[in-house]
Amino acid sequence: MIVMKFGGSSVESASAIERVAGIVRGALVRKPVVVVSAMGTTTQQLLTMGEEAASGEKDRALERLQALREMHEREIGALLPASSQGDLRQILDGHFGEMADLLGQLSAAGEFAPEFVDALSSYGERLSSRAIALVFSHLGMNPAHVDARCVVLTDGRHKAATPLYSETYARARDKILPLIGQSRVPVLGGFIGATQKGVTTTLGRGGSDFSAAIIGAGIAADEIQIWTDVDGMMTCDPKLVPEARRVKTISFAEAAELAYFGAKVLHPSTLLPAMEKNIPVVVLNSRRPDVAGTRIVAGAVPCSNVIKAISCKRGIYIVNIRSTRMLMAHGFLQRIFEIFSRAETAVDMLASSEVSVSLTIDNPARLAEICEALRDFSEVSIEEGQAIVCIVGDNLRHTPGVAARAFGALQGINIRMISQGASLLNIGVVVAARDAERAVKLLHQEFFRDVDPAVFD
Ligand code: ASP
Ligand code: MG
Repeated sequence: MIVMKFGGSSVESASAIERVAGIVRGALVRKPVVVVSAMGTTTQQLLTMGEEAASGEKDRALERLQALREMHEREIGALLPASSQGDLRQILDGHFGEMADLLGQLSAAGEFAPEFVDALSSYGERLSSRAIALVFSHLGMNPAHVDARCVVLTDGRHKAATPLYSETYARARDKILPLIGQSRVPVLGGFIGATQKGVTTTLGRGGSDFSAAIIGAGIAADEIQIWTDVDGMMTCDPKLVPEARRVKTISFAEAAELAYFGAKVLHPSTLLPAMEKNIPVVVLNSRRPDVAGTRIVAGAVPCSNVIKAISCKRGIYIVNIRSTRMLMAHGFLQRIFEIFSRAETAVDMLASSEVSVSLTIDNPARLAEICEALRDFSEVSIEEGQAIVCIVGDNLRHTPGVAARAFGALQGINIRMISQGASLLNIGVVVAARDAERAVKLLHQEFFRDVDPAVFD
């Protein structure tokens, strides 16, 4: 059994879905479970129309909804024979009717509350999964649509719900395994779930990867495939460095650091369930299915390069906190962390000196409230427009002199903060966002002049 997850760009059009069908058909012997994202930019469209409806622009929202319907009708319709067009129309009428009702409610309420965000944005995956199952059925692939909300149970934290693992795993086994036993191809939408009371939730943007991993862990799949529109994980963003190489194999720990620190290929939570159940995750390109992609595995991957990849995360804020009592009394850090924790704002990096602490965050939504609380006992300043550039690799653990090499390469770039994570497999620096591209280029030159052909393509 394998899970095959196809992202938004892999199902954005009739031709993309046709490719997906071919890829799934080629894997039928491995008993695939298919998890799909919403088509193309559907999720974004839904969020935008929700905002519009809630802010008094209902007509615009309805126009956007109509365009979305036409897109689904055109792209999916192109893959179906005349005899199935009625089924498609029925699915579209039902779903788009409900969405129009929701927009009416949002317009009356004048706000787009989190439970409505989830309710509306869930339609992208609800539609794509139904539509793709219909296409598979026409192609004789014997699909079975499964509403992911009956499988992925979550807490009630809207827009970023956490799965209730044991319940979800039990449901995945109960609902999915019998279908596979009947040689059917289960098709589910990613991203969505529901609370125990049946209220629709979502796992957060990009959450379909996470869905695939949860479902894979639940059914103890042999492999979780994440099909996207790039060849896999790269030594760094190829848009920054055209010479970037594909990483053929990487460990869970390394991939998790990269995902967390900005590599956009995988949703950062994806690897947890897979890691726990020791299921390999493979990142593949649906436009170039013959490329072997990146295999993410449990053990360390022997490699003659010290690092596997460089990540870059922009949109970082540095928060400088200086104790007004001119020393770091015990309890100072605790007070600081309590404030960030209460504001549900994650801290990425931290550096301290005698009287001050600097830390970084990537989510400024509650920064004003955080600063106000910190100012009760400290002076606070904020630096916007920063980036975290990380080098990641297992070998960092036992190779002396890597930091010196990295800083040597970065000469001439002003480094604002430095950290080596407790995992010992990353060294990160904070630089001004405008220097980030140059920093990545210099590090890539330094560490990937020669590459280990067993690990890099
Ligand atoms: N459709 C959702 C999003 O755009 C989830 C996903 O594709 O992973 O965020
Ligand atoms: Mg994604």
